[in-house]
Amino acid sequence: MGLIELASSNSFWRGVDYYKSGKVIVWRKNEKDTYSGTVKGSYGKRYDVFVDVEHPRKSKCSCPFAADKRVICKHMLALYFTAEPKALEDYFDEMEEYECQLEEEEERQSIEHKQELLKKAKLMSKSDLIEELVQAWLKIEEYETKRFY
Ligand SMILES: [Zn+2]
Repeated sequence: MGLIELASSNSFWRGVDYYKSGKVIVWRKNEKDTYSGTVKGSYGKRYDVFVDVEHPRKSKCSCPFAADKRVICKHMLALYFTAEPKALEDYFDEMEEYECQLEEEEERQSIEHKQELLKKAKLMSKSDLIEELVQAWLKIEEYETKRFY
């Protein structure tokens, strides 16, 4: 798993925010896929941050949240996104694609459901249909009354 996947969604969005508002003061690329830098925190604090893209758990930050713990904090993410903006873009692209797939799936299911109901209705007698329709109207009225009072 990468840095983004290991972070909590709270840390992720704060990291995006820190990156976009330019909280990374200085940074440099070390050997391999590691970066070091200084990131502005709250209340004028500054934190030393080290990010290891290949081994995210080896990343370090001197902030109280991440110090001595193997967690991914917003400062690490801010540094990571500053150094590799493409990583964030790719992640957003993936998220959007995933949401589109979900939407398509929901759409497909609702069409399927409608077809099932149509099939059921076609098999019913006229008097049963009238009974069902009246029941449905009553339910809708009840629902709307509850909504307004
Ligand atoms: Zn931190």
